[in-house]
Amino acid sequence: MTLVKEPLWRQTLDLLSSKLDASSYDTWFSSTSATWTENTLVIHVPSQFILEWISMHYLPALRESIEKAAGKPVEFSFKVDESSRKRWEDQIKKGHDAALETGTKAVPKAIAYQPSAEILKGIPLNQRYNFDNFIIGNSNRFACAASMAVGESPSMSYNPLFIYGKVGLGKTHLLHAIANHIRRTQPEKRVLYVSSEIFLNEMVRCLRSNRMDEFRTGFRDIDVLLVDDIQFMEKKDSMQQEFYQTFNALFEHSKQIVASSDSHPRDIQVFDKLRSRFEWGLTVDIQSPDLETRIAILKKKCELEGLMVPNDVILLIAESMRNNIRDMEGSLTRVAAYASLTKQELTLDQARQVLRDVLNIETRVVGIDRIQNETAANYNIKVSELRGRTRTANVVMARQVAMYIARELTQASLTEIGESFGGKNHSTVIYAIERVREEMEKNGVFVSQVDNLVRRIKA
Ligand code: ADP
Ligand code: MG
Repeated sequence: MTLVKEPLWRQTLDLLSSKLDASSYDTWFSSTSATWTENTLVIHVPSQFILEWISMHYLPALRESIEKAAGKPVEFSFKVDESSRKRWEDQIKKGHDAALETGTKAVPKAIAYQPSAEILKGIPLNQRYNFDNFIIGNSNRFACAASMAVGESPSMSYNPLFIYGKVGLGKTHLLHAIANHIRRTQPEKRVLYVSSEIFLNEMVRCLRSNRMDEFRTGFRDIDVLLVDDIQFMEKKDSMQQEFYQTFNALFEHSKQIVASSDSHPRDIQVFDKLRSRFEWGLTVDIQSPDLETRIAILKKKCELEGLMVPNDVILLIAESMRNNIRDMEGSLTRVAAYASLTKQELTLDQARQVLRDVLNIETRVVGIDRIQNETAANYNIKVSELRGRTRTANVVMARQVAMYIARELTQASLTEIGESFGGKNHSTVIYAIERVREEMEKNGVFVSQVDNLVRRIKA
């Protein structure tokens, strides 16, 4: 507790502290002091930001308390007093150490009104999740471009921006990237990132303590609201209602809203009006990344974390995990950890061993065997020829078809397919698959031959 010398101010603070909840009082008033200049009470606050915050939120309470303490109306004004800033920072740090950013400017950049532990948990942004570290491919190009546009000029481009896609494809990354970008380029903007879960927890907390007014002003007093995983609101009616109100209030004041979800707004079970709000702006999706993008993401991750992982291992991971970047990164971390533990250069075989449960190689190889046997029989050649290097037209054709079918019917990666065919590399497999596809496009007889073969293999 600080020593407040000015008696009127001390009384005012006492009155305020009985009026406000402890954390608001501590945050906004405990580091203030006051002096007199002529007949005006000059209230010293640690920063311009606090000055604005108090004026915006506590002016009536403040005026009332001063008047009560003095027994008459008193003129007052504010002054930013840098000397108390350190004290305020310490104060804040004590209460919300992990949550509040106290950078050189010592101003919390993301505002969650009366900072409560719950809500602030949602605020710290992952600095890694920025646009520089986001690899762009066909699967996410549009989502990324829209996010960048919103990051550059919030409320001016797409509002709301709705990003949807399956788990592990980069939605949270993009939301953080937008928030990080705005905080850096427009620090005066109040940016709030929350998961839907945190939004709900905070709402419930305020409901219980009869503080919904605060909740509402809090959420409506921001410039950019990013809400992650909207699907969490399904079947939670009062939450949807509350979010709907928040949405409208922000939207009316041209504030930017960004939301993410695992599916398109039309497929989310929320009430119609809310759903249609989501559809007002721009809806973009993120698809599973193609092989090239997956490789680039893994390489980027190696670069960022200083991991030494050979290219063939990267390829193995990129090929076997097509639908979830988080899983892919997890595998990369596992093999890298293994290599650093054993202090060995990682080999492809070791990587397979480490990842055998996720790759499930055994079952795939069995599938390819069957494909080879049936294909060889179909083309009247030996399986060894299929796996060998013979370049006669008939064998080459059979080999390409078998590779194509292996890709279609099994979960095997390109590398694995290549290996099952006598150690061919993955680009040979890609080439084979493309040749077969091209042929199928122009040759109906060929299509039915391949179809028949596939049916036999499946039987
Ligand atoms: P979601 O929120 O859609 O479930 P995340 O944003 O949490 O997915 O992404 C999962 C992981 O994949 C994160 O570590 C993220 O950084 C990474 N990631 C996703 N997409 C990309 C990308 N295009 N470039 C780089 N990393 C990515
Ligand atoms: Mg996410």
